[in-house]
Amino acid sequence: MRVIGTVQGVGFRPFVYRLASELDLAGYVLNDDRGVLAEAEGPAAAVESFLARLSSEAPPLASVEQVSPEELAPTGGVGFEIAASERGGSPLALVSPDVATCPACLSEIADPGNRRYRYPFTNCTDCGPRFTIVRDVPYDRPLTTMAGFEMCVRCRAEYEDPSDRRFHAQPNACPDCGPRLALLDRGGERMGSDDPLAAAARALHGGAVLAIKGLGGYHLACRADHAGATAALRSRKHREDKPFALMAADLPAARSLVALSAEEERLLVGRERPIVIARRRLDAPVADAVAPGSPDLGVMLPYTPLHHLLLAQARATLVMTSGNVSDEPIAYDDGDALDRLGQIADLVLTHDRPIHVRADDSVVRSLGSLRPAPLTLRRSRGYAPASIALPAEAARPLLACGAELKSTFCLAHGARAWVSHHIGDLKNYETLRSFEQGVEHFQRLFAVTPEVVAHDLHPDYLSTGYALAREGVETIGVQHHHAHLAACLAEHGELGPAVGAIYDGTGYGTDGTVWGGELLCGDLAGSERAGWLAPVPMPGGERAVLEPWRMACSWLVAAGEQRPALPRALSQTVAPERWEQVAALARSGFASPSTSSMGRLFDAVSALCGLRATVTYEGQAAIELEAAAGPAPGADPYPLAVREAAGGLTLDARETVRAVVRDVAGGASTALVSGRFHAAVAVATAQACARIAEARGIDLVVLSGGVFNNRLLVERTVPLLEARGLRVLLPELLPAGDGGISYGQAAAAAARLARR
Ligand code: ZN
Ligand code: ZN
Ligand code: FE
Repeated sequence: MRVIGTVQGVGFRPFVYRLASELDLAGYVLNDDRGVLAEAEGPAAAVESFLARLSSEAPPLASVEQVSPEELAPTGGVGFEIAASERGGSPLALVSPDVATCPACLSEIADPGNRRYRYPFTNCTDCGPRFTIVRDVPYDRPLTTMAGFEMCVRCRAEYEDPSDRRFHAQPNACPDCGPRLALLDRGGERMGSDDPLAAAARALHGGAVLAIKGLGGYHLACRADHAGATAALRSRKHREDKPFALMAADLPAARSLVALSAEEERLLVGRERPIVIARRRLDAPVADAVAPGSPDLGVMLPYTPLHHLLLAQARATLVMTSGNVSDEPIAYDDGDALDRLGQIADLVLTHDRPIHVRADDSVVRSLGSLRPAPLTLRRSRGYAPASIALPAEAARPLLACGAELKSTFCLAHGARAWVSHHIGDLKNYETLRSFEQGVEHFQRLFAVTPEVVAHDLHPDYLSTGYALAREGVETIGVQHHHAHLAACLAEHGELGPAVGAIYDGTGYGTDGTVWGGELLCGDLAGSERAGWLAPVPMPGGERAVLEPWRMACSWLVAAGEQRPALPRALSQTVAPERWEQVAALARSGFASPSTSSMGRLFDAVSALCGLRATVTYEGQAAIELEAAAGPAPGADPYPLAVREAAGGLTLDARETVRAVVRDVAGGASTALVSGRFHAAVAVATAQACARIAEARGIDLVVLSGGVFNNRLLVERTVPLLEARGLRVLLPELLPAGDGGISYGQAAAAAARLARR
């Protein structure tokens, strides 16, 4: 029988071996390029039972997608063996994501009598590094970054014993033969400590900033409750406001930081171990610099033995932020890490097991009672490169190059797509290189040689440039917001038709203008624009993204004030001359491309409330506007008209903006203004979607685009749509933001190929 799915590196062969031995069957099992191949010989009933239990009793990390049996003549063999891996042919074997340390390994490292007591690289077939150490397939030790470590006699015996938990655990290691820690000073000199872990924990406890090599890259860490250390980390990292993620020792420690629902606790302890964004407790023991002004904290639990040991010994919750300077990619190469992080960290805790693929921590946010699945803000370590199904099969192997800012890429063939880990902002040269290397790596791992390459319509995206520069392939352009729609449809196995409310910051429209508040109508293959947020100028173009006060000014001009007075809420942050210059730009349209972006409307309102005149990271103004609303329910919506226009519906937010200004001037709380604004967008969105759906006889609505990372907006909008009898899909497996674009491009391109 041939077994296809995630069946390598997950203890599948020993499981088959034990099953066959129990049933007294003869034969063999082996890994090859397509997955697992096995032959079993014995009484018919035993073979039947073997086949059935192959799927039903598979090990926890395995995902059996298909078992295809074939009948062979008996050979009279005796005994069952695990045979050597075979290479050749077309690999379909799936590389598993990295997996958090399992309970059995945890109890070993806590047991002073165990030979792995306090060993930070302990792992087994149920847990440990996978994707981040794989250099090539099949998944076997020589093709991982463990190749340089020769197993000692005892590790080898475990590795070769089919009854052992570490049978064929490729990264198997122990203190005698495996990777070792080293503590370095910022110059890279080894500190003379025989227990680097204890020394690092002591330094952390005392308030030092450490660079720590983890699973998919380096983190920068310090005590979360230490005002001096957190402030030093923030200034040295040049990160002004964006909240730092925290790592808590265990669930009780996490509960002291954030109020956790049962669902959020389940996410925290899951084997993917993402960062979970949850409501900060008022008495949370964290310094101000951790998450300035944020009502939420991002918390994760340890996911490697190193983290478990370090957290236990440091006796404190730690900041665990990506090891980089501002927007650069996270450091994962040792030499590079020292160069870049030596400036920031006091000490570097590193080790000698190389990281092959950089993978950032994933980030999720629960939707409470609204949906069982959380919003995925970043899908990376722990999730990538697990495959995601495609509802319309890709008839030819294809590559989708994604967007630009929160970029991912996606390979697809047949019914399966592999979305990459989070790559980041391609405008950074280092990131662009890792994009290119990542594509090549995935092509090898999943044996997909693209014949078709899908890309965004934006001519200046570096991902578009990459797509168009690939030789000998057919290219397919997919409009940005359609890709958002297609991604959400496809992950739910839907082909459409659907109405999509796709709201984000920026996307290139088919008319060459900047879109971002779109009501689309269509299916997986294509859609048309059925409505939009009535556009306003973006004074100064891209600068308006970093300076939301420009959008506030533009919206005031659009709302009918030829010479809008500088609002009192902005008078501390914006010089009157600049305000007037920007108003002039908005009036004339000079150097001010027109945009229908919903993200920019959120920016404008945030600025009008005096929350954010300028931002230091993407989405900050909208995030703080959402946070300001607080958890309080039911604010009265501002007016936001849905009008009939040539070619579709328009959402006219001018009256909304006037109402915001009136309320702010009248002394209304920011919580109230924000709540009323969110309600207005929700009501208008539901009205507009319902009108389009009714006119076209559609009952399905998709909400996506980065603006829908806003939980308050989702919570307001979904019930309104459902109350009108519409079915609502939200992105779950993939981000609503641009991290989901590559998969949407792949789904759309596959559907177009199928249509031909
Ligand atoms: Zn384990
Ligand atoms: Zn060993
Ligand atoms: Fe987008």
